[in-house]
Amino acid sequence: MAATKDAVLDSAVELARRAAEEVAQDPALVGEHLGLEREGERLVAHRFATTAPGYVGWAWTVTLARVPRGRTPTVCEVDLLPGDGALLPPPWVPWAERLRPGDLGPGDVLPFQADDERLDQGYEATGDLDADQLALFELGLGRSRVLSAAGRSQAADRWYAGSHGPMAPTALAADAPCSTCGFLVLLAGSLRTEFGVCANEWSPEDGRVVSMDHGCGAHSETDASAAPTDWPDPVTDADELDLVGLDESGVDEPGQDEPGADEQDEPGAGEAGPQEPADRSEGHDEPGELSGDQE
Ligand code: SF4
Repeated sequence: MAATKDAVLDSAVELARRAAEEVAQDPALVGEHLGLEREGERLVAHRFATTAPGYVGWAWTVTLARVPRGRTPTVCEVDLLPGDGALLPPPWVPWAERLRPGDLGPGDVLPFQADDERLDQGYEATGDLDADQLALFELGLGRSRVLSAAGRSQAADRWYAGSHGPMAPTALAADAPCSTCGFLVLLAGSLRTEFGVCANEWSPEDGRVVSMDHGCGAHSETDASAAPTDWPDPVTDADELDLVGLDESGVDEPGQDEPGADEQDEPGAGEAGPQEPADRSEGHDEPGELSGDQE
């Protein structure tokens, strides 16, 4: 039932204004009278616009009351309340729901979610043979839950569409895909057909999951093309060079191209030299001969 008109409270606009100005601590912040609302028997709320910056659409709301048969209005409370179209902050979101992937920093801990759809019953035996079948695939990991089909699918979609998938700029510019790279470490399970981990410290993806059709310039089997140079080819004129022959050891043959070389090549001429082959053979077994010890 709508409250009846109250002549005492309805007309007490100036009392309400003074109350609002007292709370606002500045009369300039209380604007025009916007109207009143009868909230109950002998209970009326007067509303005044606010001129405070940043409070568009808000209003000072002063609630007045009086005792039965009394003719003196009294102030119950003064509030600054939002009206229609008021500028409001975004709705409050709990911390756990506010966090986004990538927000987690060192020392942060996420709240436990018992009903996380990305996880399935894993290593713990349930007594149900069908449910325990999944644990058989994860034996040895010691985890109570493992990735579910939904969690695996979400991860695969995210990785593939992200900066380590086939459409990343490094992949588009690469000469060969990760699937043929020796630095790719394969994952376990069904994800191994689509993803691996890059283990090349020269790659920007080192230590990250990459799709098979990703790629980068540090691929183990590709090579850098020779960089062009502004230097001209070296100019050599063989007609003006003295060509010097070298024996296999890289040392000039004795006497070659020197005057009198023929004389030194006379038989026996080099026998006195300690480096002549004939000299080295003296005192050694001829091929086919055995030394006294061997005989
Ligand atoms: S080095 Fe490059 S091509 Fe090789 S696995 Fe890593 S990201 Fe892929």
